[in-house]
Amino acid sequence: MFFTYEQPEFDRKDPAEIRRVIGEAAQNGREAAREGRCADYIPELAKANPEDFGVCVRDLSGETVAFGETEKRFSIQSISKVINLAAALKFLGFQETFSHVRMEPSGDPFNSILKLDTVSEYPSNPMINAGAIQVMSLLSNFMDFDELLTFARAFCMDDGIELNEAVYRSEAETGDRNRAIVYLLKSKGVLCGEPEKTLDLYFRMCSLNVNAGSLANMGLLIANGGQNPFTGKHVLHPGYVRTIRSLMYTCGLYDESGEFGVTVGIPSKSGVGGGIVASVPARCGIGTYGPALNAKGNSAGGIAALRHLSHLLKLNIFD
Ligand code: GLU
Repeated sequence: MFFTYEQPEFDRKDPAEIRRVIGEAAQNGREAAREGRCADYIPELAKANPEDFGVCVRDLSGETVAFGETEKRFSIQSISKVINLAAALKFLGFQETFSHVRMEPSGDPFNSILKLDTVSEYPSNPMINAGAIQVMSLLSNFMDFDELLTFARAFCMDDGIELNEAVYRSEAETGDRNRAIVYLLKSKGVLCGEPEKTLDLYFRMCSLNVNAGSLANMGLLIANGGQNPFTGKHVLHPGYVRTIRSLMYTCGLYDESGEFGVTVGIPSKSGVGGGIVASVPARCGIGTYGPALNAKGNSAGGIAALRHLSHLLKLNIFD
């Protein structure tokens, strides 16, 4: 459903007004969450509370506004695909990475196998399962889990990130579709690493425990061209950050990326654990948590909250 918001005039630089709008966004998110349901194809994810909702916005000066369940840890799931891609770009480079995976929106569900058999043996993009598994097969030859975890902590500016063992086991036990993808890639002769090692690293990265604050941080690092604004440390080259933003924008919300791009207009990435990271270039990072998902597998509350923020605070990158 497309609609335009009335945009009442208010001072968008007034901290109290900004806080009020973020509070409204959190309220909208909490209401929209009632329409969704938690993922259950990974049994451990079904244990989440569908009523949980939180939103955290952090700007380049570190100013933070948070409402709701923003401290609660949950598994990062597909948002780890951004970290995996960042690691591949940083350690292997653009040419090497994109000679194994394409950069086209797929228009298919996140776990689809279809186009691997009908369009190209190379996965459409690194933001869907097939593409992320392919990127991980590349990385698996150079990095182990501890190194990826260290990179994830730097990328999210959060040293508290740990592996959620229960989610990892649950996913490893039930991830047959991802197993099918990795072996299909191997059968086509394009997989770059050993299949079981690749899958194990992929499942582990999906099982990292983050919160809305870590996602806001990730969004902030990307908004700041790959530099940690608090320590000055360069985690990723700005050119690679541009690539990541582009792929988040075009492919970050599964087969809802187009509608989200039009109605929200912020480079973002969702995960079936209920998180969404959004990154407003040179302005702020936003993390939302709401495990009740819509039919496309995106956080129902997260989308509602981001729509509100984008419209009221004028965050659409095309504005
Ligand atoms: N671990 C999930 C899977 O591979 C990630 C899916 C997602 O968050 O979109 O099915």
